[in-house]
Amino acid sequence: MVDLHTHTNESDGTCSPAELLHEAIACGIRAIAITDHDTFAGYDLARSLANNETELICGIELSTKLGTQTVHLLGYFLRGDAPAKFRDWVAGLRASRKDRNRRLVTRLRELGMDITLEEVEARGRGMMGRPHFAQVLKEKGYVATLQQAFDDYLDEFAKGYVELDTPPIAEAIKEIRNANGIASLAHPVRIRAHIDTILPDLCAQGLNAIEAYHSDHTSAETIALLDLAKIHGLLVTGGSDYHGAVKPGLKLSIGYGRDLSIPSDLLERLTYG
Ligand code: AMP
Ligand code: ZN
Ligand code: FE
Ligand code: FE
Repeated sequence: MVDLHTHTNESDGTCSPAELLHEAIACGIRAIAITDHDTFAGYDLARSLANNETELICGIELSTKLGTQTVHLLGYFLRGDAPAKFRDWVAGLRASRKDRNRRLVTRLRELGMDITLEEVEARGRGMMGRPHFAQVLKEKGYVATLQQAFDDYLDEFAKGYVELDTPPIAEAIKEIRNANGIASLAHPVRIRAHIDTILPDLCAQGLNAIEAYHSDHTSAETIALLDLAKIHGLLVTGGSDYHGAVKPGLKLSIGYGRDLSIPSDLLERLTYG
């Protein structure tokens, strides 16, 4: 079994890199990619705990812009590590997040909530996102659930929304490719534009793959995405998008009960085309 899309508590997951590796071994996962949002910190920690039971792949999930929509792009570095130049570029993305987070605190305070940047930062470890804000709003009793925090305040169309300045997807693809990485469009079903209409441009920009297997996809959607990959000459990636306790019921490589059926040779196909 393989899983090429997982998060640790170095971004918005709840498991430490060590816990994630233990879970992977317990689930019989042969190869796992850590794809934290805009950071390699989880991968770096996991690498130092190397074991022979599970192959660890260096990955990342970048927030990028396609038109006006935020679109997630996965990057995979199959030869072991992302180069320093790419890591520096990613550090710039975290700086941009910090700026958005400051503005988001200001906005939520305008809406009457007693919340500080320090409180948000205390819930994360270097990469803070809206899920950390949701946690603070819930702990302080402003909302009953994390979902309500998004619905009432943090969602793109909610009253507290503050935009994150993200790079255009073309720039992110280019940076991944220049770093000898593989760029894969994450969970394409979340994209509002029709996938058929955007893929030719993305292919021209250097996109390598699409994530056909993902916990949010129905089997019919996965089949349609596999067809599209074939038509456009793209590779295929897949993973559960494991986040630990914040996505209860989601299992590594399996997803929510219905097995994602990620092919066991997925990684080999990525490596050898
Ligand atoms: P950020 O990158 O900081 O803007 O936060 C984005 C993350 O927030 C996503 O990866 C999701 O985990 C979560 N998220 C975004 N929108 C929603 C929503 N409407 N409901 C629940 N979670 C959301
Ligand atoms: Zn996440
Ligand atoms: Fe994502
Ligand atoms: Fe993800």
